[in-house]
Amino acid sequence: MRHLAALSCVLLACTAPIRIPEASVVAASKLPGRGVEVCVLMQERLVRSRVEGVAEWSFEPWQFGIASVVVKHPAGLVMIDPAFGRDVANDLARSPKLFAALMGPARTKHPLVDVMQTAGIDPKDISLALATHTHWDHIGALGDLPNARVVLARGELEWARGLSRFFDEGVITSHLARARERLFWFDFKGPARDGFPSSFDVFGDGSIVAVPLPGHTPGSTGFLVKLTDGRTALFSGDTSWTSRGIEAPVHKNPLVPIDGDVDQTGDSLGLLHAISKARPDILVIPAHDAAALEQLPACTSRP
Ligand SMILES: [Zn+2]
Repeated sequence: MRHLAALSCVLLACTAPIRIPEASVVAASKLPGRGVEVCVLMQERLVRSRVEGVAEWSFEPWQFGIASVVVKHPAGLVMIDPAFGRDVANDLARSPKLFAALMGPARTKHPLVDVMQTAGIDPKDISLALATHTHWDHIGALGDLPNARVVLARGELEWARGLSRFFDEGVITSHLARARERLFWFDFKGPARDGFPSSFDVFGDGSIVAVPLPGHTPGSTGFLVKLTDGRTALFSGDTSWTSRGIEAPVHKNPLVPIDGDVDQTGDSLGLLHAISKARPDILVIPAHDAAALEQLPACTSRP
């Protein structure tokens, strides 16, 4: 019976309401500064169905990806969402069976360090690691970046540190433990911008600005990155897995109850929707939409 109820939920898009702010709220600012180069390190690339990503009964293809983003800042190389660690296969083998089935086999998942080697980037050269949240597929490689300071939103770090069981709430606590000596936190102490109530300017130069996107996890964070072409990328993590979720807007498929606070996720999703409509200068890039990620260049080794 419960399965039937859940299935009808999918069919009826039975999800929490999504509050969408007025366009004027998000029409505000542009990041200052000259912009930075970014590139993408894809670690998994699959074609799934739309219904797997959002509460829509559609089998249109979902270009699914798991990736990390490298930002070439004058102060050093920055990694956003260092995804799969060297031991991703072991992590999956130890995970709950239902989850492992949902995530698929390890053979399609490439550890970040291997992809970096192909791209000619030395893991030792990453000086700062940021993460949209602390789920297993966003910080799995923290331990493989030995010189990176790891800087997370305080609410996210405190939440994740309070978890203890393996794979509790989608977090593998050993991922944080492997970077134990290098963990730092920030508060969103900066001004409101682009509809977000507050912000945190990572370098103080407007090149990377963290903004709160709570809901999926308590301290989920978006990163506004000023690009060299004048546009801004907004790495929006898992508030929505897909651009379709933001465009509609529509929640994830409720059969996969992964959002910690669904109402709060709806508010964050509504804000992303409003930004994507009102701000053509902002590219909103959900963490698992390969088509969105591929608007940015892939990291390749220099000739
Ligand atoms: Zn994710």
